[in-house]
Amino acid sequence: MDTIQRNMSLTGEPPKTINRTQKIATFIGMFGLAILLLATFNVNFPNKGLWLSIALLSITSGIILFAKGAYSNELEGIKNHGVWFKSISSRGFLAWISGISLTGFYVILYFYPVYLGLNSEGENTGIIALFDPLSRILSGNPASQWFVYGTLYTIAIFAFGIKFIWKYRHNRYEKIRTMSVMFFQTAFAFLIPEFMARLNDSEAYNLPYYDLKSIWPLNYYLFDSYSLDGLLSSGNLGLYMLLFGVVSIFIITPILTYKYGKRWYCSWVCGCGGLAETAGDPFRHLSDKSQFAWKVERWVIHSVLVFAVLMTTAMVSTYLGSDPNAYWLTRDVFLIGVAIFLTLIFVLIWIFKKQELKKDARYGAIGYFVIIIGLFLIHSFSGSNNIFIFEASTLRLWYGFLIGAVFSGVIGTGFYPIFGSRVWCRFGCPMAAILGLQQRLFSRFRITTNGGQCISCGNCSTYCEMGIDVRAYAQKGENIVRASCVGCGICSAVCPRGVLKLENGPMQGRIDGNEILLGNDVDLMTLVNKN
Ligand code: SF4
Ligand code: SF4
Repeated sequence: MDTIQRNMSLTGEPPKTINRTQKIATFIGMFGLAILLLATFNVNFPNKGLWLSIALLSITSGIILFAKGAYSNELEGIKNHGVWFKSISSRGFLAWISGISLTGFYVILYFYPVYLGLNSEGENTGIIALFDPLSRILSGNPASQWFVYGTLYTIAIFAFGIKFIWKYRHNRYEKIRTMSVMFFQTAFAFLIPEFMARLNDSEAYNLPYYDLKSIWPLNYYLFDSYSLDGLLSSGNLGLYMLLFGVVSIFIITPILTYKYGKRWYCSWVCGCGGLAETAGDPFRHLSDKSQFAWKVERWVIHSVLVFAVLMTTAMVSTYLGSDPNAYWLTRDVFLIGVAIFLTLIFVLIWIFKKQELKKDARYGAIGYFVIIIGLFLIHSFSGSNNIFIFEASTLRLWYGFLIGAVFSGVIGTGFYPIFGSRVWCRFGCPMAAILGLQQRLFSRFRITTNGGQCISCGNCSTYCEMGIDVRAYAQKGENIVRASCVGCGICSAVCPRGVLKLENGPMQGRIDGNEILLGNDVDLMTLVNKN
């Protein structure tokens, strides 16, 4: 009887099964996961600290050992053998099972933490109780669902980070970048906030959870009233932290993005990017490369950014007073300031960068600008207390639910095995939208292409997690200056011909598509002199 021939490779078969080291690693890792699962179903482990350590160590060492089995006997160089033939990485049965399980986990985490054992009025039970000992060591408090999530998230970035470094060990950029995300996740997102919570034992502090590397609008809760209250009532430390948050938005981010593009954040610092690059690495080829997806991406991500700006403006303005004799920064002053700031940005882009915007970007910019300013005017003339028609708290609630929970968590991470690893970063993250706008319009970053060397193999496009058709640029020898490019460097790393190079250089001549196209009307001497 005929069997289906799944192997299209001319050079060899993908491995039919995992090797012995990988089998042992799978057993060890699954053992750790089983402990967590049993705890979720309320098996009461006698010595929780010990069992938690065994579980976390088993998971971590299982992943690292699996990577050893996969890469240690291979020559250096990227191995993506058989990704389209394995069920887990080709949207097969295992991928769907993983996607549905992860999504289910996120739904319970965000909306029904009580099923994980969260008990705000007494002792925790279930998996959250298993994490109590570790939480008490770090912050002095019992664990919450977010502590459990944060611990597992950090372990995932750490262990899969080591796997990633093993896989890309021939590439210095990838190694350093991965160590950077591992550091920022462990220190900034996990440990420092826990130690800050310990400070709250003293009456002088009332610090909210604050991941210092999470910058607004990604950190959309920074300007919530509880967060502002907490920071402002925590003495100088709280004030410095709030100032740091504001300086990060208006000074640190623009300077670093100008110098290095959005990669400094999306691929070197951010936790979402960190998880996508490490645990999400086996799924990077699943990103949609179509023009349609690119169009959807532009509209959706900028709509989320507008939503974030409106929501934050509403939240801050409701926090401020309206009596000009009591405060200089009243609600009206703030709203006028925001309106002037946005108008200024719009006008500057229109004057200096209009030519670099595609037609739909121009329509979108005008549309969003009119909507935002229109809402400001409605508010000013209506005399209503509501900012932007809806109450600020309603906007915040919907933003937290739709963007913070459903988009970034449930869809963004839960569906790694189906849509690829950067769905959230590409379609939903408002921080990526701001960085992307700047990267496209005002940054020294670009990927240069040595088109004459390109053999059109398509590796670069296949493994671009942001769905950029890198090959199309390489074939033309055109610089890649795309808002969505997170500068992960994988396109360059997988290119067998050394065509692509991530570079920072002068802005002049950075976007050179028209001159390059087919070469028909190019005055080569002018082009050479310009560069
Ligand atoms: S174009 Fe290259 S560097 Fe940019 S996101 Fe895609 S793979 Fe990463
Ligand atoms: S990986 Fe390199 S050679 Fe292959 S299509 Fe991309 S740029 Fe060309």
